[in-house]
Amino acid sequence: MITLHEVYEQGSEAVREAVRAFGARHPLARAAAEAEPDWKTAEKHFTHLIEEIMRMAALGQPPAGTVRRAENEAVQFLLTLSTVPNYRCPICVKRRRYPL
Ligand SMILES: [Zn+2]
Repeated sequence: MITLHEVYEQGSEAVREAVRAFGARHPLARAAAEAEPDWKTAEKHFTHLIEEIMRMAALGQPPAGTVRRAENEAVQFLLTLSTVPNYRCPICVKRRRYPL
């Protein structure tokens, strides 16, 4: 499965911006406004995002290409999210991590 880092490396400027925004949603120190992103958590949540998309698409889908498609959808989802000001990572919301 593709990693957030790979998405960044291979992505357009808009994709890179979306990855940075997603990372910023996972600050290492919650209290600090300018905290460094917790990329480990961001990576994990990106993987979970792909898995969620695959789960949702699981019924009635041929297995071939499912992972690739879910990865693409996850990147599209990041791009869409990055247009929302102060959005919260849906995986964080689900796990009640980093509540704002
Ligand atoms: Zn998250």
